[in-house]
Amino acid sequence: MIYTCYEMIRDCRAGRAEGWSHFAANYVPAIRRLLAHYGAGPDGEAEALNRVLLAVRQPEDSLFQSLEPSPERWFLAQLRQKVVAELAPPAAAIPLDLETVAAALEPLTLLEKQAVWLETMLYPPAQTGVLLRMAPATVEKIRAKAADLIRGKVDSWSRTLLADNGAALGRAAAAAAGSECLSPKTFFDLLDGRTTWQGREQMERHAARCWHCIDHYCRLVEVVELLRANQPLSDAEAEPYRRLLGVAEKKRAAWKRWLPGGAPEAG
Ligand SMILES: [Zn+2]
Repeated sequence: MIYTCYEMIRDCRAGRAEGWSHFAANYVPAIRRLLAHYGAGPDGEAEALNRVLLAVRQPEDSLFQSLEPSPERWFLAQLRQKVVAELAPPAAAIPLDLETVAAALEPLTLLEKQAVWLETMLYPPAQTGVLLRMAPATVEKIRAKAADLIRGKVDSWSRTLLADNGAALGRAAAAAAGSECLSPKTFFDLLDGRTTWQGREQMERHAARCWHCIDHYCRLVEVVELLRANQPLSDAEAEPYRRLLGVAEKKRAAWKRWLPGGAPEAG
């Protein structure tokens, strides 16, 4: 039987060991990859990982509170936000706010804006090309155009301006949800090719001018790639994390207690 992400969330919320064991084995590798990508550095990675695990273990943490049956991708996208929140990158030398980015990049298409946004998420052209199914050279061309547009709107500019401000821009975009914003399900339908032409047009009309939705879409694309590459930990590898999450070592199967000696005498 397949143990789903929905069952894991239910079990974790109920404090059952099975849920936390599954979480440790299946999501620690993804957290590690996110920490490495977003700059925890090898020295800080173990510590940051522990902080994330202890944070999500808190009974009041929102990650396990949603009552919606959560598809795994939605869950991992939420977890990603927790991971990024645990990292405190240095403040950018030249600050850049979301309003300035939005105004500068207004002439770009939705796809071009996604290619630029993935730069704030620290994805170089080659990886962005994989995520958006686009040639890396095209990504570079779009980013050069975006750099010119931003340069025209700011007093001081640097080549790494978007990446340096990535964390702050991501927080601003996540907080900018509006009533017309698209639901996770709409995005998953789009990613899985279940959207009708009409639905797609409607979605694109909104998303093309909404940085909250652009950020959301880019994070889901990131999650799809994370899951594709995910390798669960072995029992032994997961053990320290299970202990950290307060789950006792895997118990021997319950039936062993009923082996000869423990079984009630007949007659
Ligand atoms: Zn939106």
